[in-house]
Amino acid sequence: MPYKRILLKLSGEALMGDQQYGIDPGRLETYAEEIKAVVNQGTEVAIVIGGGNIFRGVAGASRGMDRVQGDHMGMLATIINGLALQSALEDKGVDTRLQSAIKINEVAEPFIRRRAMRHLEKGRVVIFGGGTGNPYFTTDSAAVLRAIEIEADVILKGTRVDGIYTSDPEKDKTATKFDTISFAEVLRKGLKVMDTTAFTLSQENELPIVVFDMNKKGNLMKIVSGENIGTVVNL
Ligand code: UDP
Repeated sequence: MPYKRILLKLSGEALMGDQQYGIDPGRLETYAEEIKAVVNQGTEVAIVIGGGNIFRGVAGASRGMDRVQGDHMGMLATIINGLALQSALEDKGVDTRLQSAIKINEVAEPFIRRRAMRHLEKGRVVIFGGGTGNPYFTTDSAAVLRAIEIEADVILKGTRVDGIYTSDPEKDKTATKFDTISFAEVLRKGLKVMDTTAFTLSQENELPIVVFDMNKKGNLMKIVSGENIGTVVNL
């Protein structure tokens, strides 16, 4: 197996399924099954989950809300999603721990790096909620930060599209997919993989990113088994 320890980044929107808002239980169950399969064959799995399906700080700010207040709501949204994912995984018999970047001790463990690593070694899935715990950041930044901290081999960014394209494949029919691309080339071509803060943090720490379609059954397993079905961003 090329990757022993992975950090899976799931966006909040992915949890909506075909809904306009909130959490689709069917989608959650499918994700839990995909994750269970890779855990069972020995991969250590940490997850950072977004909150965009419930609240986005910037959207609140654009409607006149204080940005920091909105971001706090966004962080809480990621904890709601984390709880939902935790319960879907535990329904399938997967041991999980939810660790939060903000104090919410009755609900989730605080983020403690060594403890998170210990959970992973024991085969538990660790879900990181609360983003980075700071406003003005995204859960992509949280994903890269946690991945580096726990010494993950790779960050797997599950999206709706199956990789990085020359242009947006949902708008441009002539767009072609990259199998691999360097960090520098992504920046040079102005391609959108993650926000700049997250992307640069990944580049500086030489943490590869794999962008793949999480909604296709078996894809997560294929990636941890070394199949190149998405796009790998590397040095
Ligand atoms: N957020 C934050 N700090 C963080 C991570 C998230 O303030 O470290 C807030 C921010 O308001 C963001 C929201 O939480 O808009 C949801 O996160 P994100 O937009 O990254 O979720 P996704 O797009 O993955 O669903």
